[in-house]
Amino acid sequence: MTKRVLVVEDNDLNLKLFCDLLKAHGFDAEAVRDAREALPRAHAAQPDLIIMDIHMPHISGLDLIGMIRSDPILRATPIMAVTAYAGKGDEDRIRSAGADAFVSKPITLAQFIERTTSLVHKTEMNAPH
Ligand code: MN
Repeated sequence: MTKRVLVVEDNDLNLKLFCDLLKAHGFDAEAVRDAREALPRAHAAQPDLIIMDIHMPHISGLDLIGMIRSDPILRATPIMAVTAYAGKGDEDRIRSAGADAFVSKPITLAQFIERTTSLVHKTEMNAPH
């Protein structure tokens, strides 16, 4: 069964890059450019993984992680944050907000796909369907 990944990223080039990479590796990728649309889109799509930027207008990635983790439908959905590495403190904040994985920009293809694959399989082990 094709795994669905919701990608939340305000930068058009990154959004397209991530979605193209995911599709090339057999994932079903849904692009969300405006963080304010992330929750309704995630409710509709029920993704196996949410990949998100941290620095976004309107709703920061950290706040969005918190919203997802307190949402009764989405709280168990794996989250992978993708952002420029700005020190261990940032990574700690992202992880303690509830992200399962952290990938720093600029991404390497191998790491991006490897983390995505392992997080999607994690969902499968938690809730087989
Ligand atoms: Mn951004």
